[in-house]
Amino acid sequence: MRSNWLAVLVVTMLAVVALTEFRTPYLPVALWLASIVAIFSINAGSSAKSREEKKQKVEAEPQEAVNPGLIAGVRAGLAVLDTPVFILDQNASVLFENTAAERAFGTLPVGSHISGRLRSPGLLDVIRETIATGTPNQVEHSERLPSERVFIVRIAPADMPQAAGAPFYILSFRDISDLRRIDRMRSDFVANASHELRTPLASLRGFIETMQGPAKEDPKARERFLGIMLDQATRMSRLVDDLMSLSRLELRANIAPDQKVDLVPLLGHVRDSLLPLASDLDVAINLHMPEGPVEITGDRDELVQVFQNLVENACKYGQDGKTVDVFLRAETGQQVEVSVLDKGPGIPAEHVPRLTERFYRVSVADSRSKKGTGLGLAIVKHILTRHRARLIIRSEIDVGTDFTVRF
Ligand code: ADP
Repeated sequence: MRSNWLAVLVVTMLAVVALTEFRTPYLPVALWLASIVAIFSINAGSSAKSREEKKQKVEAEPQEAVNPGLIAGVRAGLAVLDTPVFILDQNASVLFENTAAERAFGTLPVGSHISGRLRSPGLLDVIRETIATGTPNQVEHSERLPSERVFIVRIAPADMPQAAGAPFYILSFRDISDLRRIDRMRSDFVANASHELRTPLASLRGFIETMQGPAKEDPKARERFLGIMLDQATRMSRLVDDLMSLSRLELRANIAPDQKVDLVPLLGHVRDSLLPLASDLDVAINLHMPEGPVEITGDRDELVQVFQNLVENACKYGQDGKTVDVFLRAETGQQVEVSVLDKGPGIPAEHVPRLTERFYRVSVADSRSKKGTGLGLAIVKHILTRHRARLIIRSEIDVGTDFTVRF
């Protein structure tokens, strides 16, 4: 710009000299004007051109590349992690994906944009924000296919020495699906337990109020109500006992039992303890045992609880079959097995996989009328898991049910 004014000054001085020399002023003035216009138009063009050139230069300047040596080291570390991790560049393109990420999201070609597989707008927003600001971010992200999974996704710039090349970003996924499932199970469990306790409590309150009011002077009604109240209170204490058993078992879930237990006398004890119930229900419990002891590693009291629950259920729900058979098999080279068989009505196939869930019952009314809490098989399952044993349930409608424990 400054050179323009210098040219104008020179041209003006020449024009002044010309004016003094020429007789008519028109030619020098016209020449002066033409020169001024020429100076400015040439300069305007050249400055636009230089701006354009400058801009092009900026655009053409290649983006700083990520230092490949640095990436190699980081990749080696991330490859062995069992949580999905990606390395992204400044354009959110994938530079590396570990095996866990391939397993979770499929293979993304190097250089492809992360949105090629992860399309959630919330997730892409935090990635964009971190790339723009350099501050770490995290967001919850869920995937529906192939199965429902929930992740906490974190994006953070890699902490690198200065002048080590372009920045790159670590996108990592923490799978919290199991935590969510356990949370949901816990809250369902608390809701179910409260519901189970609320029913007998409401009935107790109802009877107490009736006895304080309308039935105050009616000794016969009082007698009947007291009987029902005792039943309800007993039901509540059964439920509390089962809940306590479950919670004790949960506390010990990871401690493997270490006693040597002979199953022959143990099953004999279980039968003896259930004889009063069996005779009330008119059911015969038959034991089929091999010769000699059958020892396994376990916890005696817990195993008693397992077989008591199974034989009691067989007597209660298979009452119509009149007999319950308990087989203990311990063939050499085979796993020890205990089967509890009844000849009752059987369990419809759709219920079988869910029987060990807490409070799951084929018929709530039937279970209640048989003094059930819906927790018996859940307790069995817990104890067997601690014993590294399996529960196999086979049932056929109108033929009977077989609960087999395989140690
Ligand atoms: P409950 O306290 O109700 O007996 P369980 O957990 O022991 O709870 O059993 C769950 C459900 O499984 C029972 O309510 C019943 O519907 C079914 N069940 C268990 N054992 C048998 C069996 N031998 N025959 C038929 N149904 C059974």
